[in-house]
Amino acid sequence: MLDSPLSSLIRTTKSRITALQARGINTLRDLLMYFPFRYADETEFGNIIDLNTQNAISVQGEFKNVKLIRTKRGKAMLTADFFDDESDVKCMWFNQIYLKNTIKLNQKYVVTGKIKISAGKKTLMSPRVELLKTESSLKHSGRLVPVYNEFEMINSKWLREKIHPLLHFSNLIEERLPLNIVDSFSLMPLSEAIRQVHFPDNDEALKNARFRLGFDEMLIISLGALKRKYDLKNYNYADSVSLVVEKEYVSEFRSFLPFNLTNAQEEALNDILSDLIRSEPMSRLVEGDVGSGKTVVAFMAMYMALKNKKQALLMAPTEILAKQHMENALKVFKNSNVNLALLSGSMTKKQKEEVKAKLKLGLIDMIFGTHAIIQDDVDFKDLGVSVIDEQHRFGVSQRAFIKRFGTSHMLSMTATPIPRTLALTLYGDQDLSIIGEKPAGRKEIITRLIPEAKRDDAYLWIKAQIDSGRQAFIVCPLVEDSDSIDKKSVVSEHIRLKEEVFPKLKIALLHGKMKQKEKDQLMLDFKDKKYDILVSTTVIEVGIDVPNSSIIVIEDADRFGLAQLHQLRGRVGRSSHQSYCFLFMSSNSHSSKERMKAMVNFSDGFKLSEIDLDLRGPGEVYGTRQSGIPDLKMASLTDSKLINIATKAAQMIMAQDPELESSEYLNFEVLKGQKEVDL
Ligand code: ADP
Ligand code: MG
Repeated sequence: MLDSPLSSLIRTTKSRITALQARGINTLRDLLMYFPFRYADETEFGNIIDLNTQNAISVQGEFKNVKLIRTKRGKAMLTADFFDDESDVKCMWFNQIYLKNTIKLNQKYVVTGKIKISAGKKTLMSPRVELLKTESSLKHSGRLVPVYNEFEMINSKWLREKIHPLLHFSNLIEERLPLNIVDSFSLMPLSEAIRQVHFPDNDEALKNARFRLGFDEMLIISLGALKRKYDLKNYNYADSVSLVVEKEYVSEFRSFLPFNLTNAQEEALNDILSDLIRSEPMSRLVEGDVGSGKTVVAFMAMYMALKNKKQALLMAPTEILAKQHMENALKVFKNSNVNLALLSGSMTKKQKEEVKAKLKLGLIDMIFGTHAIIQDDVDFKDLGVSVIDEQHRFGVSQRAFIKRFGTSHMLSMTATPIPRTLALTLYGDQDLSIIGEKPAGRKEIITRLIPEAKRDDAYLWIKAQIDSGRQAFIVCPLVEDSDSIDKKSVVSEHIRLKEEVFPKLKIALLHGKMKQKEKDQLMLDFKDKKYDILVSTTVIEVGIDVPNSSIIVIEDADRFGLAQLHQLRGRVGRSSHQSYCFLFMSSNSHSSKERMKAMVNFSDGFKLSEIDLDLRGPGEVYGTRQSGIPDLKMASLTDSKLINIATKAAQMIMAQDPELESSEYLNFEVLKGQKEVDL
């Protein structure tokens, strides 16, 4: 029954069936699993007297005088009087003439709508009409009314009409979680949850239903992570990967640094060092705001590989970043005899072959690069430590990396500020170190929202800063002008700034459509102060380090998410110069202003991501595809209570049944999740 095709169960047109199928809704089960995303609270009924011109109200009563008439222009129109014990109102429909045949006299109905007054007469215009058999039979009014995501000709009303009579079949949906889990966490049974989520009896039942369905989603995520961790532990490593960590190695490394590590860096370092001496590979994620100093900590791990006569790699999502990491490493390791090399897609075949050959022979100790490093024909003599910067941007799982790199210690770094509870669940297969403070002595970046009227003043001020030796970034959302969207493009902004605003300054243009070589050269030239201003799209968002640049102007800032703005702002404030971030807005909506205010008031990426999650929801904040954060139907990634409980349940299941044999559902879903992200 549940798996019979919908076309055999509901009466509807072929095109609707096709539309449903295109959404993956083929069977009754699929339809029952298509959940509403919100509810209209129409639990309260009014009286006919209460009907007004402002908001739609539902009232109960009966019809009389149902008449089909023609207007002067010949259009068909239906009129009727609707009455209760106290009063009556005239109803009119232009486009629901068929109601003539369905409305019955001496029957109770619920109508919902607003009053329109013309020529002094009150009329209820095109009200929604629903037969009132019993209160619990109501689908569209007098209750919490489900609202679905609509597509093509499938709207909420249609879905309510079709789902309501089929809802009792949800009894056939078998419980998919182990019963002891349902019991231990007092979960609403699945079939009940499905019924309640479509047509809830009341707020409480709805809350429990949504919790149950969200729990299942979060449980899969948490189990996925724990399962990966379990599999890693039980991976049959041929050899121990344990490194020797002598005290003097560590102090040697410290002596390379012109500064002392922060407490947070020290803690992360301790975590890592105790991982490295274990016989099974490290699998650790270092999370820290931009500029918190993650890279130094990673270099330390890489140095330990070297001291053990092994190799290390650092992989970054873009070529510019890979190069930057290598340049930093060159500085840090300048007084030691470490052999560094770069391997990237834009190198010539010959250059690549040479690097690969050296790697294989062990003539290179540390390799920096992009995706090129994970290509099949790259072999190491003996890889000890792998560092992956912004792992989620590769869209590749930790497990896949391990398969590729054999049994090296694995360290990932991310600046995506994910709240701790969430990170622990999403990345539960990795141990987590958070670098939650920045090196002392950094000046806070002064952030200002600049009204359009003050634009010229801002430019004057920027000019003065540049005259005193600083540089500036100016960021626009688009590459080229578009007719449809009123956003600033870098190309036309570059011309405007050059010709009208700063004719005496040297202004460069950078965007993602340029060739890699050009981009790299431009960044190097900007670092070398060959330009005063860099006009750019968000390609400068990730990690680029130009310490002398102390101003960033962001045009149409409200078009960006807070996390992204924060990343952009992190391009400045990288030296002892006071730095500034100026935001210009293109819209004046309330939510835009709220977000800009948050940027002005907070400098902490974690705090900003929390605000952003509240204002926009996880899909919007992290951008679902690149972030590696799943798109959930029910579970909220900010619901730490749900996350905690689901994680506890996942731990319970893993303790009893690590191979997930007791539940076909869990087994299938968890394994499916793992396949998606493998290389
Ligand atoms: P992240 O990768 O976390 O954004 P980086 O590792 O690139 O940060 O560090 C940012 C800058 O701060 C670099 O120039 C680095 O040399 C410097 N830095 C790192 N740790 C410290 C520290 N403890 N004290 C002073 N400067 C530091
Ligand atoms: Mg970095």
